[in-house]
Amino acid sequence: MLDIKVKESMQSSSVFDKVTSMDHEQLVICHDQATGLKALIGIHNTVLGPALGGTRLWSYASEEEAITDVLRLSRGMTFKNALAGLNLGGGKAVIIGSPQMKNEAFLRRFGRFIDGLAGRYVTAEDMNMSTSDMEYIGLETRHVTGLPETKGGGGDPSPVTAYGTYVGMKAAAKKAFGSDSLEGKKIAVQGIGQVGKYLIDYLVKENALVFISDIFEDKLKEVAKKTGASVVDPNLIYDIDMDIYAPCALGATLNDDTIPRLKCAVVAGAANNQLKEEEKHGVALQKKGILYAPDFLINAGGVINVGAEYLGDYHRETVYRQTEKIYDTCWNILEKSENEKIPAQQAAMELAKARIEAIGKVKLSF
Ligand code: NAD
Repeated sequence: MLDIKVKESMQSSSVFDKVTSMDHEQLVICHDQATGLKALIGIHNTVLGPALGGTRLWSYASEEEAITDVLRLSRGMTFKNALAGLNLGGGKAVIIGSPQMKNEAFLRRFGRFIDGLAGRYVTAEDMNMSTSDMEYIGLETRHVTGLPETKGGGGDPSPVTAYGTYVGMKAAAKKAFGSDSLEGKKIAVQGIGQVGKYLIDYLVKENALVFISDIFEDKLKEVAKKTGASVVDPNLIYDIDMDIYAPCALGATLNDDTIPRLKCAVVAGAANNQLKEEEKHGVALQKKGILYAPDFLINAGGVINVGAEYLGDYHRETVYRQTEKIYDTCWNILEKSENEKIPAQQAAMELAKARIEAIGKVKLSF
């Protein structure tokens, strides 16, 4: 059974405090003795439609950490889906464990938990979860998307995420440098996984000077050889001389330690929840004169892809066209941020909230 008490050192004293503080509708605890499945499903807001967001499989150091992650991620999905113009709410799931635990029984059991929510939550892939995992989940529920193309799905959403990140980065570059050309710009991509590797291809094509870091040396060597990118030690990526920092690995990399070290003019990457503390670190970037392209805006290509699949209207060209709109949205948000002298993250959240409030005729407190 999950220990629902959170550590005294944490700001909130109970799960309910945490759920309330982030204004979630629901937090579901899933447990299956036979397969060892331990999962959490966060449903943040369903005003615009069913809560869509991927499932992350991660070996969390504690259950508290997993709870915090699922609540932060599902809240982020509310903003992301709203800003992307989708008629979908925000949700997310995390599975506590390692990829070795995954098998048909494990994934189908998880699928049954999702099915029990009767469409309030729709899942897709996230870190350590693949399109074929979605197939197993899909044997138990229709509230799953991101299925392989061979099964009539839209396939891996990562290339679309990379495209949205790329166009968002270009809009931010235009604001920072007066031109959206990335030619000759020094761009550091942290994490060359599913999204990072496609993003690098766009950057190399534009003749940007690309720097890459990852925790897997073999992968780095391979990508460096293929693209001509320069390899940087993962611990030093914040210190290098660069124009654009593109976080494409884990979240919370914009924090008290890293922001003072950054020498870039723009942060634009695909990782979720890049600001360790939304307000504090959004303001810190603004004070340093670093333009921040909000993560949940520019990494929305993937959810646009899986959202179209779930809503039964999947056309790849339309998905890319919708994703391309991230450029204009990013530009408008950076303009709003500049004109109103507020952090870009706040500007983006205000736009997302305004859409939800208008559609739902509600006043939101988050
Ligand atoms: P991935 O797991 O394929 O890639 C992540 C990469 O980061 C891996 O290669 C990993 O080795 C590397 N990494 C881990 N820790 C690192 C560190 N300290 N320094 C450098 N590299 C490190 O994941 P992904 O699908 O490419 O997603 C990347 C990020 O983008 C995640 O935060 C994810 O939530 C977010 N995101 C992904 C999608 C998508 O469509 N895949 C959509 C939206 C957001």
